[in-house]
Amino acid sequence: RNYTREDIFEMIEEEDIGFIRLQFTDIWGMMKNVAITPGQLQKALEKGCMFDGAAIEGFAKIEESDMYLFPDIRTFEIFPWRPQQGKVARLICDVHRPDGHHYESDPRNILKCAIQKAAEEGYTLNVGPECEFFLFHTDEDGMPTTLTHEKAGYFDMGPLDLGENARRDIVLTLEDMGFEVEASHHEGAPAQHEVDFKYDDALTTADNIMTFKLVVKMIAKRHGLHATFMPKPKAGVNGSGMHINMSLSKNGKNIFQDPEDKNGLSREAYYFIGGLLKHMKAITCLTNPTVNSYKRFVPGYEAPVYIAWSMQNRSPLIRIPAVDGEETRIELRSPDATANPYLALAVLLEAGMDGIRNQIMPPESVDLNIFEMSEEERQALGLEKLPMTLAEAVDELEKDELICKVLGEDLSTKLIESYREKYREYQQQITQWEIDQYLHKM
Ligand code: MG
Ligand code: MG
Ligand code: MG
Repeated sequence: RNYTREDIFEMIEEEDIGFIRLQFTDIWGMMKNVAITPGQLQKALEKGCMFDGAAIEGFAKIEESDMYLFPDIRTFEIFPWRPQQGKVARLICDVHRPDGHHYESDPRNILKCAIQKAAEEGYTLNVGPECEFFLFHTDEDGMPTTLTHEKAGYFDMGPLDLGENARRDIVLTLEDMGFEVEASHHEGAPAQHEVDFKYDDALTTADNIMTFKLVVKMIAKRHGLHATFMPKPKAGVNGSGMHINMSLSKNGKNIFQDPEDKNGLSREAYYFIGGLLKHMKAITCLTNPTVNSYKRFVPGYEAPVYIAWSMQNRSPLIRIPAVDGEETRIELRSPDATANPYLALAVLLEAGMDGIRNQIMPPESVDLNIFEMSEEERQALGLEKLPMTLAEAVDELEKDELICKVLGEDLSTKLIESYREKYREYQQQITQWEIDQYLHKM
């Protein structure tokens, strides 16, 4: 929203705002915040709000620990779930160094740089996500479980759908915060839900994804439920993805459409797909950054496994939804909501732009069900798999110069090291499955 500083101070007065949360997102995709009172806002807008960067894991080193939050006044929103007197508002912030420069590993800054680069060539990326999540019970100590009494499936309604009141509240709260919610429904697995909000430019959408996750968690809690975006909380049922719908516009017009083409797609759309496919293995490390993310990529649960694109089919990684005109877009089905949305969108944009700059034509679309093909048929088509573990994805990231460059030297090194460490830690666990398989028999 196009607020001026005067608008902000007016709203603070009129809405009886008691606190302002200055928010930012750390490199792991966790939202952080510090609260100030309205009396401190003028100073924060002019000089930034100082915080100890060294205390945020993955941020600045000790010797340069003073960091500053600079609020982006376009992001002013009120938290509808907080008290109505002395209300709580938030401002999303950029992170600056003491010398006034943007902190180069601030995820929001990395996305802004990618957006700026594309803008210099006249392109704007528009993004619409489809976020899925589970609503589980908590135990008597209030701890989250993976339990539900629910037996509902795709598009089911009450009384089968036990989450409909929570979902209704989530949608109404999002609307209070300026979201345009396009659809909400029960998803395939028991206790699984999806809420879709309208596409917007990449930066706004990344901000929105962060706000969305907060709202879902807060409102679920009010209903005594635990909301989780964990990609695969339960074996044997679908996991939760975050499909990313993307289109490019030039001078406010969608340029992915071409009515003359047999698939209705422009050259740019093909090149963008070509760039995405070329960098997909490295990108996966950012769109799916947890050990658990990779448990979603198995056949039979509506999640992609192979690197391919399709005009018709829902099994591949990239699908072209059957729409045209301004709605023309490509849907990437691998991401999940554990992704840091700023980093994920930054690398997707740069990969797609690499396709456009270097005119990378994707292979033919695969319009048959990949899962029903034999291994030989897949090989004949040159179909490769997405990385099957976080460790594999990290190796791919390390090999991909372009994607590492988007993240910058400092951040890519940090992410590679820490994801490797996470995977090592995971590998040292003895799982219940192993105990069940081997303890008795072996
Ligand atoms: Mg959907
Ligand atoms: Mg869905
Ligand atoms: Mg979808």
